[in-house]
Amino acid sequence: MIAETICVGEELLCGQTQNTHAGYIAAHLAELGIVQRHQDVVGDDAGQLAECLRAALTRADLVILCGGLGPTYDDITKEIACEVMGLPLRLYPEIWERIQGIFAAGGKLAPPENIKQAMFPDSCIVLPNKHGTAPGCILEVGGKIAICLPGPPRELEPMFEASVLPYLRERSGGYFHTRVLHVFGMGESDVAHRLTDLFARQNGVRVAPYVKTGEVTLRVTANCKDATEGEALLAPVIAEIRSILGDIVYSDCDMGLPEVCHALLLERGLTLATAESCTGGLLCSAFVDMPGSSAYMLGGTIPYSNAAKVCMLGVSEDTIREHGAVSAQCAQEMAEGMRARSGADLALATTGIAGPGGGTATKPVGLVYIALASENNTQVKELRLRYDRAKNRELSVLHALDMLRRAMH
Ligand code: ATP
Ligand code: MG
Repeated sequence: MIAETICVGEELLCGQTQNTHAGYIAAHLAELGIVQRHQDVVGDDAGQLAECLRAALTRADLVILCGGLGPTYDDITKEIACEVMGLPLRLYPEIWERIQGIFAAGGKLAPPENIKQAMFPDSCIVLPNKHGTAPGCILEVGGKIAICLPGPPRELEPMFEASVLPYLRERSGGYFHTRVLHVFGMGESDVAHRLTDLFARQNGVRVAPYVKTGEVTLRVTANCKDATEGEALLAPVIAEIRSILGDIVYSDCDMGLPEVCHALLLERGLTLATAESCTGGLLCSAFVDMPGSSAYMLGGTIPYSNAAKVCMLGVSEDTIREHGAVSAQCAQEMAEGMRARSGADLALATTGIAGPGGGTATKPVGLVYIALASENNTQVKELRLRYDRAKNRELSVLHALDMLRRAMH
């Protein structure tokens, strides 16, 4: 099955709203093995939308349209789709009643403009909207399918998962079983190079690499009967990838580094504390983002200045004088000081030069030290990052998390 996505809205064209639907839908279609060759964005213009949809329907079997199902004059997607496909609209009284009910629950009368949200052609599948007034719909004429979905992400995404995915799974003629492996510590081209033979074989199992911030993910997919058969097909390929790449593969069930550390800390019953200079709270926040982190996260400090490193964590003034605040020695004392003061089993510390200023010939921008203190020892890692301030800080967090998960394995 060949698909295209058309996102409708002036605000997407002028950069006021970021088009998140295109990526969201593309990822789900790829999981189903549905191929996309085009994506489009058009403004709220009837003529241009009609032209765009006609062209898409000549190339694809399935066109997904997002946005423009609202009640106002510029919401025209469903009307244009029905016109292009030759499907007259009629009122669905039960849907109009439901829309009136939503307004009544808020003590209001439904404005007459909303009646268009209850108009659909005779032969169509109406998709319920649990988070808004506009239902979506699936239209089909002569083997071509158009799916109209509402614009707001909090309406589109639940509707897509509840109604569109099951429909497409059935229509795309096959179940696709997918596992996503996460790799940290090697660039995409190196990963791809090592897996060249495996990519070339692809007998029944597809392996596709994607780059995410600081890491590479490998999507491994098989077209099969069901999950049991899928697991059997994927298992030897995943084992082969693991044997080639080794322990840089840290997850085979689509968990990121924070989630993997979270699970390991809970499983091992260990507590954690953080002392962050250059990452300024990002590391602690990566844990606090996850519900349930209070079971192990004791707290974090941000000793940014030299004086704060001394008075908050007990880093020795001599260390700072002799080695500087950005040094392996300082990172080690920060982690050990944090561990002792918090009583945590493990303490992570970061200190570095995020940039763009502050670098010297011996201590360039991107030089970062990460320390992990535990009962038995303190490990220190030196990083030499080459990015901008934001990415240097983000990568420092990922390296700290990677150190932590390795220590717990
Ligand atoms: P409404 O009833 O709110 O008018 P609608 O179905 O007519 O809904 P739009 O008017 O196109 O949808 O968009 C509604 C909201 O959804 C807008 O605030 C817009 O920013 C957001 N939105 C629309 N398209 C996208 C998209 N492709 N990606 C992310 N957000 C989007
Ligand atoms: Mg609208």
